[in-house]
Amino acid sequence: MKAPATEPAAEPLEVLIVGAGFSGLAMAIRCRQARIGPMRVIEKAADIGGTWRENTYPGAACDVPSHLYSLSFAPKPDWTRMYAPQPEIQAYLRETAERHGLMPLIKLGTAFSGATWDEARAVWHVETDRGPITTRAIVSAMGGLHHPAYPDLPGRDAFAGAAFHTATWDHSVDLAGKRVGVIGTGASAIQVVPEIAKVAGHLTLFQRTPPWIMPKHDHAIADSTKARYRRLPVLRRLERARLFWLHELRAFFGFTKVSKLTKQAEGLARHHLAKAVPDRALRAKLTPNYRLGCKRVLISDEYYPALQRPNVTLETGDIARITEAGVTTADGRAHALDVIVYATGFDVTGSFARMDLVGRDGRRLAEAWSDGMGAYQGITVAGFPNYFMLLGPNTGLGHNSIIAMIEIQVRHVLDCLAALRGGARAIEVRPEAQARFLDRIRSRLADSIWQAGGCRSWYLDAQGRNTTLWPDSVMAYRRSARRARMADYRLG
Ligand code: NAP
Repeated sequence: MKAPATEPAAEPLEVLIVGAGFSGLAMAIRCRQARIGPMRVIEKAADIGGTWRENTYPGAACDVPSHLYSLSFAPKPDWTRMYAPQPEIQAYLRETAERHGLMPLIKLGTAFSGATWDEARAVWHVETDRGPITTRAIVSAMGGLHHPAYPDLPGRDAFAGAAFHTATWDHSVDLAGKRVGVIGTGASAIQVVPEIAKVAGHLTLFQRTPPWIMPKHDHAIADSTKARYRRLPVLRRLERARLFWLHELRAFFGFTKVSKLTKQAEGLARHHLAKAVPDRALRAKLTPNYRLGCKRVLISDEYYPALQRPNVTLETGDIARITEAGVTTADGRAHALDVIVYATGFDVTGSFARMDLVGRDGRRLAEAWSDGMGAYQGITVAGFPNYFMLLGPNTGLGHNSIIAMIEIQVRHVLDCLAALRGGARAIEVRPEAQARFLDRIRSRLADSIWQAGGCRSWYLDAQGRNTTLWPDSVMAYRRSARRARMADYRLG
């Protein structure tokens, strides 16, 4: 039995933040700075860090530049590389949490299992596996990429060797000299494949759909540059701004919509492929047959070279089944393996739907979302007062740093929390404001690259609706969501 997370408190918390990854920590820092409290953060895992704690596969790194993929109010002048590796990002989150005095406020090993709105007291009764918590407001900072998705392949349990997901890497398994199969060719796969290829006896990569890949140009950041950023913070800020606008341009470069520039971007990616892969047959297998931007555009300088190593095979036949000895493809060939790595992504829409939230009049979030999930600015849902989401529906990005979206949302939630501090018992988005917002983004999504680009991705739910990505630039989201318009909210 775990010890209870909280003593039964006479007074409810002012705000409970669920999740201690990037977004939860950002929210907690801002709440502390605004002196909002009492506040607590609960985190299901034994450490903070969220996705950067969980994804420890070899080669895990961020594909957004470090100086952009960090909090504007918690700068780090001495990032070691243009694209930080996972341990450095995890260390950054830890240092940031410690420097801002968050650790005593975070209850680790405490899993949120649901919450019920109490209209009479205007509080949420939260259930956790370490006892109940009562709070005026909940900020859900649970992220979407944390329930590993495994392919529904017959025989998956029959495999006799080690098998694990990229997000649940088994570091006790030594891959040296082994026959390793990797299933999937998304953002995680292209980082892990070059690392496995270096040590495995043989690596078979099972590809269903080739990704579009651009050059990465990763490099170490010189000590002299770090020193300059330390001495003159304005230079670091300028670098961050430069990176932001460079990425922001991609929104108009085909990353949200098929545009005249999509062809140019595809040309660049094809050129990268042609330069890296001289073999025509291999190149044909690696050439996507859908529009660039429809799936996440990947960056790597190591993936294509890794596929040309003598100990690597790219297998493009459909997987028919997993057997005790390995993988059998639809053409009947058996691929003998010692280890299977599932680089098969996450169950994103499912993880939101699993939240057991009971709002006003006993209405569950799953009911409110029976036609697909959606929230006003991706943050608030009518019928669920004092409940706020970070990285909620339609706020993911394919073109720029997600940290920018988090900071906009944190700003919005602070406005709402200020209204509660200013005397309101409850704040709830007006249904008509939510409907207007959703109509607006759904009409933008109709001709988006994710709908029109000729592919299927985790961005779309089972009905083919995009409930995950923001269909415009970050600046457009900033204009839409940074400040909470009180006319769109009902204060109770
Ligand atoms: P993903 O992009 O969803 O890729 C999953 C891969 O598994 C796809 O190639 C998919 O093929 C394949 N797959 C799934 N089921 C299969 C089956 N039955 N048979 C064969 N192949 C199958 O997952 P991910 O690579 O983990 O990335 C998920 C997200 O995490 C990314 O989009 C990104 O947002 C984030 N991420 C970010 C970074 C970063 O550096 N910032 C790094 C890693 C991940 P299909 O394409 O045919 O469906």
